[in-house]
Amino acid sequence: MSLTISHRCQSIAPSLTLKIDANAKEMKARGLDVVSFGAGEPDFPTPAHIREAAKEAIDMGLTRYTPAAGTKELRKAICEKLRVENDMTYSYGDIIVSNGAKHSLFTLMQAILDPGDEVLIPTPCWISYPEMVRMAGGVPVYVPSTEENNFIPTNRDIASRVTRRTKAIIITSPSNPNGSVWSREQLEFVAELAITHPFYVISDEIYEKLIYDGQKHLSIANLGEEIKAQTFIVNGVSKSYAMTGWRIGYVAGPRNVIKAMTNYQSHASSNANSIAQYAALKAISGDQSCVNEMVAEFERRRNAMCERINSIEGVSCKKPQGAFYIMLNIKELLGRSYNGRVLEGSMDFAELLLAEKQVALVPGVAFEAEGYCRLSYASSMENIMKGLDRIEEFIQGLE
Ligand code: PMP
Ligand code: GLU
Repeated sequence: MSLTISHRCQSIAPSLTLKIDANAKEMKARGLDVVSFGAGEPDFPTPAHIREAAKEAIDMGLTRYTPAAGTKELRKAICEKLRVENDMTYSYGDIIVSNGAKHSLFTLMQAILDPGDEVLIPTPCWISYPEMVRMAGGVPVYVPSTEENNFIPTNRDIASRVTRRTKAIIITSPSNPNGSVWSREQLEFVAELAITHPFYVISDEIYEKLIYDGQKHLSIANLGEEIKAQTFIVNGVSKSYAMTGWRIGYVAGPRNVIKAMTNYQSHASSNANSIAQYAALKAISGDQSCVNEMVAEFERRRNAMCERINSIEGVSCKKPQGAFYIMLNIKELLGRSYNGRVLEGSMDFAELLLAEKQVALVPGVAFEAEGYCRLSYASSMENIMKGLDRIEEFIQGLE
């Protein structure tokens, strides 16, 4: 037997979003003046009352294993949140808590996919979905969209990708990387299709609270008991409460699958960190004014950033409705060159911009969105303006 890496693992590319973020942080640590639009994480500190709860948990000795699916207290608090904020009834047996929503999604794919099962993924999409589907033996089936349609695929395009192997669709609203929010009508169409076929709906609602212009989040599971019974709501505390490093995510959904996920998790990782679970309990059931403050600041930055981008010759963007990302359209710049290097695509743009102007962003190619780059505005207003000035200078330097 030779000392090889499994075929399954050989084909997995590292997460480019995490890699770019790590590179930018490392360059900063070396003293370089890097402006990072790469990170998909709030720049605010975790609110004080949540940090205090974690300290309390340590002092109370909450340092032991909890049930694999998470403490009953936290799962009950999640049900209460879903009842009060989303008008949906779940009981704690319908919930599993994991090490971040990424882990929730991973375990969910393991629980529902058999080899060859297809998962519809509207694109541009978050980088980890296709890899997670493949890791579970499934087949990602992309459903493309256009900027004109706010990066949401048309009903016809969605329906045309459905086959007898379709097992699930992933809906991310608000979306990463586009910040798009699905309308009630769009969700109704997916719900009807999913019920008729039938297939599962994976509703990634991690950016639920980061929604602007007075809009309110709508979950597809809200559309009726029938669709709720085949939908998984994936959420967590990373984005809403500036808790990316704490690693708490959860899934609410059909109990038989939640049970299967719990069995899987009980061998793969056991419970999520007990201290972080206690902190998440405080985040979810405590004072929510910290969220409103962060959302107001994100909205202010989004407005300023969109306006500034659209004042730069050669690039443009649409105003997103949620999350903290903007898709920068760089199509007009492709084919031009900087110091002799031709911009063939978004990867060249991102690499050159980092090397020449110390600005980090994520190339659209990472999200199945060639011709675009993703900018995160989870960064101070001062940094945003500094970074955009540098992008303008870079563009002016193109031949
Ligand atoms: N879903 C989406 C769309 C995301 O952008 C992220 C970003 N990390 C996650 C899930 C996972 O979040 P976390 O694991 O930090 O809870
Ligand atoms: N979701 C964030 C992003 O897209 C964080 C990095 C990751 O988990 O991929 O940048």
